[in-house]
Amino acid sequence: MSSVQAFPPTLNIGELISSPELRRAFQFIDSHLEQITEEQIRICSIPAPPFGEKERAEYLRQRFVELGFPDAKLDEEGNCLALRKGHSAAPLLVVSAHLDTVFPAGTDVTVKREGGKLMAPGISDDCCGLAALIGIANALEAARIGTEGSLLFVGTVGEEGEGDLRGVRYLLTRGEWANRVDAFLSFDGAGTDRITNRALGSRRYRVRLRGTGGHSWGDFGVVNPVHALGRAISKLASYPAPKEPRTTFNVGRIEGGSSINAIPEEATMDVDLRSASGQELIKIDAFFRRAMREAAEDENAVRRPGGRPLELKVDLIGERPSGETPADAPLVKLAWEATEALGAIPRLDQASTDSNIPISLKIPAVTLGAGGMGSNSHTLDELYDPRGRDVGLKRALVVILGMVRLER
Ligand SMILES: [Zn+2]
Repeated sequence: MSSVQAFPPTLNIGELISSPELRRAFQFIDSHLEQITEEQIRICSIPAPPFGEKERAEYLRQRFVELGFPDAKLDEEGNCLALRKGHSAAPLLVVSAHLDTVFPAGTDVTVKREGGKLMAPGISDDCCGLAALIGIANALEAARIGTEGSLLFVGTVGEEGEGDLRGVRYLLTRGEWANRVDAFLSFDGAGTDRITNRALGSRRYRVRLRGTGGHSWGDFGVVNPVHALGRAISKLASYPAPKEPRTTFNVGRIEGGSSINAIPEEATMDVDLRSASGQELIKIDAFFRRAMREAAEDENAVRRPGGRPLELKVDLIGERPSGETPADAPLVKLAWEATEALGAIPRLDQASTDSNIPISLKIPAVTLGAGGMGSNSHTLDELYDPRGRDVGLKRALVVILGMVRLER
């Protein structure tokens, strides 16, 4: 039996919200909204490109130390960890947000203020989540809230793109907290109504085709990797992807060849396969692999006698498992009721977030918006509007304290 089952979460939201502890914490949030916005601006002004999150992680660690967590540290993968001990070690709830952005090193991350809104790459995704971690830790400390279970605040590395969830994967499968986490909550972007309880699975490949190359006229008939790539793309594009459960494929990048009158030596492509269903993901994955083999065989079949065959390499460069925390799991019910109690209309959602990993490990997990409103995510014009931030932070406090319970 997991500790979450042994220590059931509070489901009496009304009682929790009207407790003096929550009232003190809510009051702290209401009177510190401007400070939280300033914190978000400071975090966002520290670049955190893929595989380059160290400086931002170190800043976060320093802030946790200042808030009263002297043992805050970075783990071997680069995640920032701060433990807030409760009366007992379990249940242990992770409260997290991701450090990395999709923007390469050298991107201008200066935050501009326009009216009440903030504009900068990464300002919502996920600086608003990171500011929420600090704001919530600060509110719990300021309101002197003791809990039965314990909280582990985590800023994760590698949530985006080729990071492939490496931070949360390390945390839950290899780091010192592996096998000790009972539930998982992450903030990803803005919003007050979204509860992501279903994990969108994906598999990403780099396909490489190699031949001998040669002169377009003189060597005609040797294998042509670009022709084979064309055959491969055509086969993949014929896949009857179901609308329900939604399943998609994308050849996002192709490369190969050097000159119009040279037979290329190499051609590569990057492919992204996704499905709302694990079953469908396995199906399209099998189709894709077979299509790649057939494309290489078709090209080999028409080569001139005695020529070297094509070499095909298919490398898995990213894998995100799918799955769900059931809608009737205590964590999801708590998030639903907390959203309603704060006057927002809850909505269950499916996305690819840090929660994919705990969900695949059967650890109850949800991803929530951290309040306010965001737009233009993953663009240089990303916006954040702090109006409604208080609702998101209060909702998160109710979920967190519902899970680990007030100390009695
Ligand atoms: Zn994100």
